[in-house]
Amino acid sequence: MTTPDFIVVGSGSAGSVLARRLHDAGAGTVLVLEAGGAHEEIHAVHDPTLWPTLWGTDVDYGYRTVPQPHTAGRVHDWQ
Ligand SMILES: Cc1cc2nc3c(=O)[nH]c(=O)nc-3n(C[C@H](O)[C@H](O)[C@H](O)COP(=O)(O)OP(=O)(O)OC[C@H]3O[C@@H](n4cnc5c(N)ncnc54)[C@H](O)[C@@H]3O)c2cc1C
Repeated sequence: MTTPDFIVVGSGSAGSVLARRLHDAGAGTVLVLEAGGAHEEIHAVHDPTLWPTLWGTDVDYGYRTVPQPHTAGRVHDWQ
């Protein structure tokens, strides 16, 4: 295996565009690392109206903000 010229971590909106543009520009070899799966078996992953039902499940990274001074110190879910 050769060493890639670029490693893109995450193939979401930004990562997939970046990887494609690096490829199309002939900038070098690109390795894309994606932690998520297709989750074909989880209907709510494929229906945007059901996204709140995914909170707190195995497909939720569970990121949270630090306390926000402009929302009275509340901590918010970070999607
Ligand atoms: C329910 C919902 C509906 C939305 N609807 C819209 C809409 O209609 N229009 C709009 O403009 N925006 C919408 N957004 C917002 C939009 O999806 C995000 O702003 C955008 O996807 C962010 O792009 P990103 O590349 O920064 O992150 P993401 O697209 O989240 O990509 C990050 C990727 O990195 C992967 N990853 C994370 N950690 C690692 C790791 N350690 N190693 C490898 N891979 C990793 C993740 O699995 C993920 O695939 C919506 C968001 C949600 C949650």
